[in-house]
Amino acid sequence: DAAPVHPRRNPNIIITGTPGTGKTTHCEALAARIEAAAEGKSGDADAALTELRHIAVNDVVRDRNCHDGWDAEYQSWLVDEDKLLDELEPDMTSERGGCIVDWHACDLFPASWVDLVVVLTADTESLYDRLALRKYPEAKMQENIDAEIMQVLLTEAHEAYEPQIVVELASNTPDDMEANVDRIVAWVTQWRKDQGS
Ligand code: ADP
Ligand code: MN
Repeated sequence: DAAPVHPRRNPNIIITGTPGTGKTTHCEALAARIEAAAEGKSGDADAALTELRHIAVNDVVRDRNCHDGWDAEYQSWLVDEDKLLDELEPDMTSERGGCIVDWHACDLFPASWVDLVVVLTADTESLYDRLALRKYPEAKMQENIDAEIMQVLLTEAHEAYEPQIVVELASNTPDDMEANVDRIVAWVTQWRKDQGS
C-alpha cells in the first residue's frame, strides 16, 4: 500500500495563549524569519519556511466582518466563529498549508486543519505589566490573569487536540521568545522532512 499522503506540504501552526502572553510578538518574529528565507537571506536552515504565512486572526475578524459588533465595555469584537472558520478554511485546508495562526482561542479549529498548537504562557507579574500597558479595563484584565493562572488555554488545547501536537512554551523574556521561535523553526523543518515535502 502507498504511504498515506498528508493533505498539505507545510504544517499549519496555531500560536495561542492568554492575551499578552506574546502571540503576535512570536508570530511577527516568525514572519521576519519567513521573509528573510523568502528573500534568500537566511541559510539553508530556514529554507523550509518560505511558504509559511502569518494569519493575524484579529485582522481577519475586523476586515472580513466575522463579528456581530464591537463590545465597547469589554473592548473586543463579538466574534462570529462560523463566519471566521469560513474565511480561514481556504487557506487552512489548502495543499500549501503553512498557516501560522495568531489567536487567543484554539479549539474552534477542526483537528484536521492543525499540525501543531503552541500554547504560550507568562508569569502573572509579566502578564499584569503587559496588560496594564495596554490599558485594559479592570474586569478584562482580571479575567485574563485568572485565565492564565487557571491554564485555560492549555486545557482547551489538550481537550481539542492529540497530546503530541500540543506544546507549552514560556514567554517571559526576550530570550524565551528567541528560543521559542528557534524551536518552532526547527520543528517546521523536521515536519517537512518527515513528510518528504
Ligand atoms: P498577544 O499577541 O499574545 O496578546 P503580544 O505579542 O502583543 O501578546 O505581547 C504583549 C506585550 O508583551 C508586548 O508589549 C510584547 O512586547 C511583550 N512580550 C511578549 N512576549 C514577550 C517576551 N517573551 N518577553 C518580553 N516581552 C514580551
Ligand atoms: Mn496579539
